[in-house]
Amino acid sequence: MTLATPAGAEQLLESIEASKRIRRRNFLIMFGLTWAVIVIGLSVFLQVTVGLNLPFLNEWAPFMLGFVGFPGGVILTLFISVVSIFFAVILAVFGALGRLSSNPFLNGIASLYVSVVRGTPLIVQIFFIYLGLPAAGIVIPEIPTGILALSFNYGAYLTEVFRAGIQAVPYGQTEAARSLGCGDAGLEAAETVIRAGMLKLGCGVLGELLSADRGHRGPAVPCGNGHEALFVSYRDKVIDTVLGPVTLNRAWYHCPACKHGFAPRDAELGVAGTSLSPGLTAMNDKAAAAGPFAGAASMLEDLAGVRLTVKRTERAAEASGAAYAAQVRGRSA
Ligand SMILES: [Zn+2]
Repeated sequence: MTLATPAGAEQLLESIEASKRIRRRNFLIMFGLTWAVIVIGLSVFLQVTVGLNLPFLNEWAPFMLGFVGFPGGVILTLFISVVSIFFAVILAVFGALGRLSSNPFLNGIASLYVSVVRGTPLIVQIFFIYLGLPAAGIVIPEIPTGILALSFNYGAYLTEVFRAGIQAVPYGQTEAARSLGCGDAGLEAAETVIRAGMLKLGCGVLGELLSADRGHRGPAVPCGNGHEALFVSYRDKVIDTVLGPVTLNRAWYHCPACKHGFAPRDAELGVAGTSLSPGLTAMNDKAAAAGPFAGAASMLEDLAGVRLTVKRTERAAEASGAAYAAQVRGRSA
């Protein structure tokens, strides 16, 4: 298989970057179009069904924007939102710490807070503070009521967000900490984690390298039996490599005379008729030669970090065994 020669590597990396840029740009374009279509569609729908009341807007827009009767609706809303979020974040930090605490008292308070606030509608909470508390002699003015209610409400939701974040992130970090020698199983954890990471990284690089050439060899190629096979489309094929599974998207040709389809790229890479890469095939053969197929599969997983089913180990070893036997026969004949 012909991959990057050192001289061509620079160019290859550039074309990888270029294809990434194009993908990013296409994503942004489609994303923007999706928004535009939905927003325009909704506007048209509202205009047709309800209609915009322009005199009403003319009359009230200055009040909303704060030109008349400062600060106006928009600015007041933004102010209340920002102040509420500020307090909500503070509440949520304590809430999340409480939810993660091993102290039953603190954990209980935090959990009750989250359950009650998330289990009741915001409007009920606002009514409770503004209309309910005065019955107990606690009277809070409108704006502070809004800030208080929103802070409590956002705080409960953010508590759960923070808790999930705290629980999710340090998981990898505890692994990393253990791998740096903190803990008993330090070195083994380090080796395994780093290898898994390197394999993943290598697998991505290999995928990018393979996608640089999608194996289009013109509209027609020789089929091998004296006809012309025609280009059909690009098709995916997953191949297992020593770095893990890689999806190969390559040009597919079909010969109408032979009624036979093939991808020239597969033959070039040595994966025609198999889903194991040449490197993995060689590894698999060695493992299969050492003992039973079930042992070979687990050996590959333990030693090479590659997961294959016993069935596939067996089939691949048999396929290359057959090829080897044929070779020997050919030589002796
Ligand atoms: Zn043919």
